[in-house]
Amino acid sequence: NMKLDVNVLRYLSKDEFRVLTAVEMGMKNHEIVPTELIDRIAGLKHGGTYKNVKTLLRHKLVHHDSSKYDGYRLTNLGYDFLAIKTMVNRGLIVGVGRQIGVGKESDIFEVIAEDGTTLALKLHRLGRTSFRAVKSKRDYLKHRNSFNWLYLSRLAALKEFAFMKALGDHGFPVPKAVDWNRHCVLMSLVPGYPLVQVKELQNPSVVFETIIGLIVRLASHGLIHCDFNEFNIMVDDNEAITMIDFPQMVSVSHRNAEMYFDRDVECILKFFNKRFRSIAKNTSAVESSELSFHDRPDFETVANLSASLDKQLEASGFTHQDQKDLEEYIEGTVEDDAGSYEEGSSDSNSNSEEDRSEDDDNLGREGSQGAAQTDENSLEDANVMMEPNLS
Ligand code: ADP
Ligand code: MG
Repeated sequence: NMKLDVNVLRYLSKDEFRVLTAVEMGMKNHEIVPTELIDRIAGLKHGGTYKNVKTLLRHKLVHHDSSKYDGYRLTNLGYDFLAIKTMVNRGLIVGVGRQIGVGKESDIFEVIAEDGTTLALKLHRLGRTSFRAVKSKRDYLKHRNSFNWLYLSRLAALKEFAFMKALGDHGFPVPKAVDWNRHCVLMSLVPGYPLVQVKELQNPSVVFETIIGLIVRLASHGLIHCDFNEFNIMVDDNEAITMIDFPQMVSVSHRNAEMYFDRDVECILKFFNKRFRSIAKNTSAVESSELSFHDRPDFETVANLSASLDKQLEASGFTHQDQKDLEEYIEGTVEDDAGSYEEGSSDSNSNSEEDRSEDDDNLGREGSQGAAQTDENSLEDANVMMEPNLS
């Protein structure tokens, strides 16, 4: 599993953080940030940048590239550190614990809050696996050069946070959204296990109906999960469920809304039929293969409701263009996997080293306009960054 040795955070000096932040800022406009530019942004005296960037390189927080000119880019780890450090500075977390989840496009860690409670931190890694394939198959990158992992991962985190918050506010069983920064979402730790790991249920039909009811209620609020499956539903000891994983959600006004809705229902239906056959078979819902059509709310009506969650979300800072960008990417990867859609979250161990290797990611190949969000991480903040300690 990925190593996230946050101890390094403790040893990094104020100047080293300043240089790391300068690299991130430079990446708004450069795939590889010229060392000279890093130096100018960091504004350290006596060649401080050159010395400090070497330390960052040693800790694998930046990657050196001299193929065209001498320069650096952030690594995944470097980006992780900037986000984690920000969370630490905000007084939200004091330490990072074990990894509890690996998705195709995320890593999830237990983190410790200041009051000692354990929270979950999801680090989005869009573009980790299939970005290149998408790029070769679909040409949108030509006119959309802001697509790169920094930008996409940040969008996914923003979207996930906004949706989690809105859904929670509307009484949906989701983790409590605590905060987000860059590509990271901080949320409450959900008790229990993903449904896929649950071999036995006291009341499978109740759980089944609850889940289907959720899909329907979501739709009546204007939303479709689009990845509603046994990997994204957590079940606790009382068989209460929590849904997770929202970056791919769409509005019921999406052109494929009905297909997505039916696919979510179908997915749950199939799983329950397979795993909890004897009992699920007897439930009325399962008997009716047309369940999705009976219970599917009228999307047009819902879409026009001003109260629909979908509309409210637009006010959350997650814009229509953001949604379009993300959808374009996600649809690209799904088409790319042609038919292996459900694998999206099932491959808990297919993310091997090569996926994580810094040479194999796609950062910096497409230009990075709008990539890193640095407004709240200006160099002034970099000064503050070292004060609280991870301990
Ligand atoms: P992905 O988009 O990569 O599928 P998920 O959000 O589905 O990411 O998380 C992957 C796995 O991590 C989940 O299947 C679950 O086991 C675990 N996980 C995610 N969020 C939480 C949480 N808040 N509490 C406990 N476990 C979680
Ligand atoms: Mg998932």
